[in-house]
Amino acid sequence: MTNPLYDTLFGQHSGSDAVFLHLQDGTSLSYARFLEIAAQYANLLSDLGLVAGDRVAVQIAKSPQALAVYAACAQAGLVFLPLNTAYTADEVTYFIENSGAGIVLCDSRRRSELAPIAGSCQALLETLDADGSGSFADKAVVAATTFETVPRSVDDLAAFLYTSGTTGRSKGAMLSQGNLLSNALALKDEWRFSASDVLLHALPIFHTHGLFVATNITLLAGGQMIFLPKFDLDDLIAALPRATTLMGVPTFYTRLLGDARFTAELTSHMRLFVSGSAPLLAETHVQFQDRTGHRILERYGMTETNMNTSNPYDGDRRAGTVGLPLPEVEIKITDSQSGETLPQGEIGEIEVRGPNVFQGYWQMPEKTAEELRSDGFFITGDLGQIDPDGYLSIVGRNKDLIISGGYNIYPKEIELVLDEQDGVLESAVIGVPHPDFGETVLGILVPIEGCDVDVDGILDNLRTSLARFKVPQKLIILPELPRNTMGKVQKKALREDFADTFQ
Ligand code: ATP
Ligand code: MG
Repeated sequence: MTNPLYDTLFGQHSGSDAVFLHLQDGTSLSYARFLEIAAQYANLLSDLGLVAGDRVAVQIAKSPQALAVYAACAQAGLVFLPLNTAYTADEVTYFIENSGAGIVLCDSRRRSELAPIAGSCQALLETLDADGSGSFADKAVVAATTFETVPRSVDDLAAFLYTSGTTGRSKGAMLSQGNLLSNALALKDEWRFSASDVLLHALPIFHTHGLFVATNITLLAGGQMIFLPKFDLDDLIAALPRATTLMGVPTFYTRLLGDARFTAELTSHMRLFVSGSAPLLAETHVQFQDRTGHRILERYGMTETNMNTSNPYDGDRRAGTVGLPLPEVEIKITDSQSGETLPQGEIGEIEVRGPNVFQGYWQMPEKTAEELRSDGFFITGDLGQIDPDGYLSIVGRNKDLIISGGYNIYPKEIELVLDEQDGVLESAVIGVPHPDFGETVLGILVPIEGCDVDVDGILDNLRTSLARFKVPQKLIILPELPRNTMGKVQKKALREDFADTFQ
């Protein structure tokens, strides 16, 4: 094999008339046609002077063409660098500068804003819009529809993916061909993907979930995707009858459950529902089973590692856990301070080692050294515990841990109790500065629509079920929790908003 990633995911489908993508306008795109577009893009990128190892930064809408840029990068040995479409021009500036991208592909509406920064970084700038048009597409259309695949090895970089920035500034995770391929191979087998699968795809493709988990598995299996431009409840419900599998963030599932059209009948033909990127409430898991008879399969991963653990396809899918390590992936729970492995059952830092673990953060050697041990274990920044059967549960992020009066307090433990209170839809528990305790516990509650919540009554209940130091000093009611596009609660923003509560 000359280029393992391209050959395995894309090249195997060369000339195939099988459908790859079903599009919103009712048309479909075959594998063969998709690969022709990708080859045209690869030719253009090469003609523009990009050579193996160069970074291709893209901030473009989700479209078949955007996916074809990924394929083109794989074929031409370029490093694919997708960016969140919600980033402002200022934010994109950071990524262009930081990555040293050789070319930036953006929406034509962004062109004038990004031209100066691309210019000062000596990066080329071309446009590719949601409908597949733009200066890049115009130039590519005259290019040949075949391209001689550039040889690469499993150790060569395939993508830079920036982390979501939940805990701080986004970091560029360098992912090799081998990182991506090993994970796609493991997940395809674990989740039994085959050429007869039709994946309902409503995730963004700038994030590992929609890009690598969903797309790479489908490519590997030779399946089809119903490729929705974004999450839209009506579109999702309309497309479900044609799908066999759905991958979503927890909000997909809570939104579906909130709609009366989402019934056992609508989902009876479905093979698999996968959830990840943020914690799925055990309650959502149970409600989903009650409504549909299906058990959602929850898995755990991150930008730096792709997927690490998964609940089993055949065995027991346990609500509130993220399952067992994938083949070839090792997980251990360690003491944050000493790095020593903790006894089974204790809460500590989740560390991961395996062929999926990234090559380090781009141009951040200190950060890489802090988080990636010399023996290959990556310190994830998540806290977890492993039950006697080996199932991993995530307790929260290390950075969200509250230390009050010398005690360690895990927000999740308190959130689980808050979520059970009358009238509470969901909750977030954060630590905020306090003059006596250093930090203290603040609870934020989101009421179920139309329900009143009795804050004093809830505090009384908490006092009976939680040790005193864990009981929030105060409960605040908000109409909703701040979330990013991947459904992740933005605790950093909450901490900033409520920093002065006790000061
Ligand atoms: P940053 O690293 O920039 O702070 P981020 O960690 O949110 O941002 P991602 O790589 O997109 O960026 O997200 C990975 C994180 O998402 C994991 O470390 C974990 O905290 C969380 N996560 C993923 N899957 C699950 C899950 N099933 N349950 C709970 N949390 C999950
Ligand atoms: Mg992270």
